[in-house]
Amino acid sequence: MGNKNIFTEEDFALINKEFDALKNNLVRCKTPECIELITNAFNLANKAHMNMRRRSGEPYIIHPIEVAKIVNAELGLGAKSIAAALLHDVVEDTDYTLEDIEKHFGPKITSIIDGLTKISGNYDSTNTSQQAENFRKMLLTLSDDIRVILIKTADRLHNMRTLDSLPERKKMKVAGETIYLYAPLAHRLGLFTIKTELEDLSLKYRHPKIFDEISRKLKHSEKKNQAMINKFSLPIIARLEAENLTFDITGRPKSIYSIWKKMQTKNVPFEEIYDILAVRIVFDPLKGVSEKTTCWNIYSIITDIYMPKPDRLRDWVSRPKVNGYEALHLTVMGPHGRWVEVQIRSTRMDEYAERGYAAHWKYKGDNSQESELDKWIKKIREMLENPNNDPIEFLDEFKMNLFSSEIMVFTPKGNIITLPKGATALDFAYEIHTEIGNHAIGAKINYKLQTLNTTLQSGDQVEIIASDKAKPVKEWLDYVTMAKAKSAIKHSLRSEIKELRDKGQKILEDKLKELKITHNSEVLDKLLPVYDCINREDLYSKIGNGIINLDNLKKILKKNPSSRIIKYWELRMSGLHKQTKSGDKESKPSVIDKEVPYLIRESIDSQKPDYEIAKCCKPIPGDEVIGYLSPDGKVVIHKPKCPVAVRLMSSEGNRLISVKWTIHKMVSFLAQIHIEGIDRLGVLNDITNIISGELNVNMRNITINVHEGIFEGTIDVYIHHTKDLNNLIMKLVNIDGVDRVNRVEDFN
Ligand code: MN
Repeated sequence: MGNKNIFTEEDFALINKEFDALKNNLVRCKTPECIELITNAFNLANKAHMNMRRRSGEPYIIHPIEVAKIVNAELGLGAKSIAAALLHDVVEDTDYTLEDIEKHFGPKITSIIDGLTKISGNYDSTNTSQQAENFRKMLLTLSDDIRVILIKTADRLHNMRTLDSLPERKKMKVAGETIYLYAPLAHRLGLFTIKTELEDLSLKYRHPKIFDEISRKLKHSEKKNQAMINKFSLPIIARLEAENLTFDITGRPKSIYSIWKKMQTKNVPFEEIYDILAVRIVFDPLKGVSEKTTCWNIYSIITDIYMPKPDRLRDWVSRPKVNGYEALHLTVMGPHGRWVEVQIRSTRMDEYAERGYAAHWKYKGDNSQESELDKWIKKIREMLENPNNDPIEFLDEFKMNLFSSEIMVFTPKGNIITLPKGATALDFAYEIHTEIGNHAIGAKINYKLQTLNTTLQSGDQVEIIASDKAKPVKEWLDYVTMAKAKSAIKHSLRSEIKELRDKGQKILEDKLKELKITHNSEVLDKLLPVYDCINREDLYSKIGNGIINLDNLKKILKKNPSSRIIKYWELRMSGLHKQTKSGDKESKPSVIDKEVPYLIRESIDSQKPDYEIAKCCKPIPGDEVIGYLSPDGKVVIHKPKCPVAVRLMSSEGNRLISVKWTIHKMVSFLAQIHIEGIDRLGVLNDITNIISGELNVNMRNITINVHEGIFEGTIDVYIHHTKDLNNLIMKLVNIDGVDRVNRVEDFN
């Protein structure tokens, strides 16, 4: 600390040199006003970060200057964004407040800084749901100003470029986050160059050996590749010049990350990745000739010279990708029998590809037709505005949305609807309108009647057949892939369950009125165990849909009140130590060596029991168990192999007592089953039938995901004993199509 941090002459010289480099290379705005704004922002930031250093030792202000450089040169944003980038860490890391910023720079820049401050810093949490929530917060700023996300991306890029100075543990975390969230986000925003760099940098830190090996090999074949690209390009150049085109032709290897991914997916070594080379042709549009026509002209010239690979033509000119990307890609057989990918773009398309969303602004002007990207952002906003979104679930769905490529289908009127790949007819229905989804019964796909879970293909024409009587059922959750459809179905199901409950409650109340009994919790407590219900909601809905009829209601309620205390099971504990009085150093806990019968009761007056089932390992009767006498006198029941119990054994062994299940009667325990297998029609039905047919088992929750014909899921069940659970598992395994069933025993 102290003197070590005070800036030296060299520091000041470095800071000024870096800032001049920014100021003298402004891309979009060079007016005196712009330069003044940027200089003011720099002056304030420089003062605020005075004598602060990064972990690497360099003055802190170098970081915001570098971020501003990226915002300027690589994103092509204007003066306000550059100023915001210079100021981006001021509010978070220094004594300056948002009000200070507002006073000097006005509301627009302040709101950008506010957005940036809100989303930074919190990533230290190792808690996934916290991270998900933070990311969600960050995306919320999408609705305020897209520039926040762009500047945040630049910030992340510079942090990745300088990741070396962080401690190892943090490196992995930042690199992991980058590949999980920032690279896909950059991709979706059309920032192709930045996305590629983020991916490569992330790989470099996550798998340094692989990264080094691939870069070494690429370096090794560099000369050979250059010669090959030259040889490949020469005849193309001659023909394009003959057409009077102004163009740029460049060749480059694929990125290290994409080579690695290809090695992974194809399971081949580096040497067998044959289309490592890509050639890019960027042309200036000719007057009076559309860009599209020129693209196809160039395509035609290239295929005159080289043989195209038929299945590798990608036309993103007629219809751009959702992230705004436009180009014509083809793969041809080059010299020496090697496949070469050729990308054809106009200068405008090239700028879109390099700068993504930032470039859209430049070209959009005032006749702004809603671009695909705008539509995407609108969709994300809709997702975000859905309040009952669980953060983790949201993150997964958002990720799916980032990665999935799109298909385009047509309405009967010929309108184009963009859906994620894998979307079904039911997704389509919900995409058109929630009400259409809610009442769908089938679909006509290309004039042929199909079921709602039919997966759509690009180019399909889809008409939804709806009926007023139709309504969502639980299985529909398996039919859809899109968040929007899922949440609409869940919403509808929830309100249906509520209706059922209300109906059940009404039936019960009427019946009780007939018997002149007051409807209170005492009555409910009597009924729940008899009807094997978990709680009152469970009871009401079972009455509501007729599973429970109340014919013997009178008999149940007239039962002897002394049976109010129900003995559920007994835990036999031994080796119970006397508790040590605090402050009494001399007294050591003494062992009671005879067995102490320890009756555990749970009364329906809901007195607190003297034991507690450990939440970490959730043992149930039949499991091997061990007891821990907690300081407040409660015995906590663990499984002996539970890590928490193991820790207790080593640290507080004197508080452990042996416990044994002896009898059990009525109480149910929650257990979770994991199940997977081949999806076939009705398999879910078979599973639920078996479960509901088991007398001692009550299903609480079932989650099944189907992916490419394989289903996988978990079922939460209430059981009385492991015996029941094993029985159930045996029966489930025997279902046709079910592959594996096991009890989930996670110790988290
Ligand atoms: Mn920063």
